[in-house]
Amino acid sequence: MRYRGVIIRPPSEAESYILQVTYGCSHNACTFCPTYKGTHFQPRPLREIEEDIRMAARMMPRTRRVFLADGNALCLPAESLMYILGLLKESFPYLERIGIYANGRDINDKSEKELRSLAELGMGIVYLGLESGDDDVLRRVRKLDSSEEMVRAVLKAKRCGILTSVIVLLGLGGREGSLRHAELSARAVSMMNPHYLSALTLMLVPGTPLYRQWERGEFHLPDTEGMLRELRHFIACCQLENCVFRTNHASNYLPLRGVLSRDRDRLLEIIDEASHRPEMLRPEYMRGL
Ligand code: SF4
Repeated sequence: MRYRGVIIRPPSEAESYILQVTYGCSHNACTFCPTYKGTHFQPRPLREIEEDIRMAARMMPRTRRVFLADGNALCLPAESLMYILGLLKESFPYLERIGIYANGRDINDKSEKELRSLAELGMGIVYLGLESGDDDVLRRVRKLDSSEEMVRAVLKAKRCGILTSVIVLLGLGGREGSLRHAELSARAVSMMNPHYLSALTLMLVPGTPLYRQWERGEFHLPDTEGMLRELRHFIACCQLENCVFRTNHASNYLPLRGVLSRDRDRLLEIIDEASHRPEMLRPEYMRGL
């Protein structure tokens, strides 16, 4: 198992075997994202992927979960992905689920037949960064997809039998656009009703365009209180059914877990309590990406 560059995966894939099938992100333009800035995007050579799978099958034959990296590995053509999934299925007899990151376009550009075939071959969950439901914010931070395209992608993946996990990024609307960002993000995720939903909190990373905008005073990051207010407003506006919501990522000030909208009142009470008790919050130095 060999890796090149920075490897990231969702918290829920912590136990998974990570198989790198692409290097970097095919979009690589979001102004807040430092992850693949130095990496030239390219699909990984198939020969290397096959070697890695054989190696992993020898070392970890009881693997149950696999996560395909990097940034949006679902951008690979359906045929290549089917071949890789087929190899994984053959090589790991206990395999239960394969996860992958995707942009909305990676799903919208594939046919339902292709997505269903991927699901049959084990692609069980797709992780998508909506980041914001506010199209002005999405344009400003140079996300690839509009909120409408993201809604369409999530609904399509669900129709094809794939679990969906959607991420929103608190703080991305800045101080001035905070509540609008929360409200429109809640509206978009309510239209998607994903199986899983998580909120991360924006951290400004030196070297990114958004960091430079912040340095020049063109972007104002909400403070901790503002982030909690935004999180509260987001949860209050969500209309969801049976959606597992988590803020367990290390960037967040307050870890929450519940099922929305069933647990909405309980989560709002925890946020209200935390806004008076700073000891409930993750200290700044312990936050991370
Ligand atoms: S699509 Fe995702 S991985 Fe690619 S630049 Fe944007 S946030 Fe980063």
